Amino acid sequence: MILKTSKEILIENILCNHCLGRQFGKISTSTNERRGKVIRNLLINLYPELSSILNQERSCFLCNNIFDKTDEIIKNISPNFEFNSFHVGTKVPEEIMKKEEILKEKYGLQYQESIKQELNRELGKKIGLNTKKEFKREKEDATIIIHPYEFKTEYIINPLFIYGRYNKFVRGIPQTKWLCRRCKGKGCSKCNQTGKMYEESIQELITELFLNETKGTDSAFHGAGREDIDVLMLGKGRPFVLEIKSPQVRYIDLQKLELEVNKTNKGKIRISELCYVEKDIVEKIKNTPMRKTYLAEIDISLNEDEKEKIEEFFSNRDIYQETPNRVIHRRVDKTRIRKVYKVLTSKENCSSLEIYCDGGLYIKELISGDEARTNPSIAELLGKNIKCVLLNVISIEEKV
Ligand SMILES: [Zn+2]
Ligand SMILES: [Zn+2]
Repeated sequence: MILKTSKEILIENILCNHCLGRQFGKISTSTNERRGKVIRNLLINLYPELSSILNQERSCFLCNNIFDKTDEIIKNISPNFEFNSFHVGTKVPEEIMKKEEILKEKYGLQYQESIKQELNRELGKKIGLNTKKEFKREKEDATIIIHPYEFKTEYIINPLFIYGRYNKFVRGIPQTKWLCRRCKGKGCSKCNQTGKMYEESIQELITELFLNETKGTDSAFHGAGREDIDVLMLGKGRPFVLEIKSPQVRYIDLQKLELEVNKTNKGKIRISELCYVEKDIVEKIKNTPMRKTYLAEIDISLNEDEKEKIEEFFSNRDIYQETPNRVIHRRVDKTRIRKVYKVLTSKENCSSLEIYCDGGLYIKELISGDEARTNPSIAELLGKNIKCVLLNVISIEEKV
């Protein structure tokens, strides 16, 4: 069957061994070139009278003998960025892809492998040998895009992901850069031409040194949730992943940078536990349910009765919370259900509460009730107007 079809193809078209073998590429694991050679030799032995036709390999109808030029194609590949592993993609002219498709239909070649796949593989193997880097299909540091017919190469450097935790020791700093509401980042009189709502952000304070060190083009900051601008992040800190786009330098001394960031921002923020991670951790830290412990200061003094009442009532209690009035202009209006596991009042301080609850619960509203948008609330329980005046996150832990 293979021989019969091959004979028909070769009588009508000139094919190189690569292209001949590739028409049956998904049948066995041998290389296309070897398979093509075997088929050709068998045919020549069976039909010696056709040998001059069957033997033609020059000016291959499909690939124009591109596989003879692979050394030349990859000769100039020497990226000037750091990478340990790579993947290859090839751009093949439309007319060649069309010819391949025509061949497939005409001869019913259901085991045909595409020329792109073979080029990717053959070029990838050679580049691997030349550069001593690992050629692989996933989690690669870079993608080398080759235009073999134009002897042109492009590089895509995949982003770098660094995990860590941050503490915030001063109020008034947002987690990420906020564009000015009026000018949307262009710079106007309201934002003092900075384009930003706040002069600095945790993202910017952390990122700058990493961008310098890696020579990346841009970055993204992925936090495991966020605290309000006026809330401190204490304890072991909040998990984040820093994404550096197109880094020229991939292998940096994380410990050194950690020290440097902490020194530069002493008293303001602190980072810890830095390590390299894969991309999937970003989704994971964003979607893993967390439990948090807050320390809240309220604007009234609680008596012993009230303290007892609060501790008793807010024990494994579901809270129904509509999107708070203060953020409704930028968040979708919906009702969330979050649990408060425990509230501890302090013996010495009559206006301080330690609240252990699900991540995503709005604490200021748990205290005030937010015009009955949060149910139940501490204000409602005590029948008093109560406001949170100071709030700190003292611990974030993964739900177990
Ligand atoms: Zn060919
Ligand atoms: Zn502005």
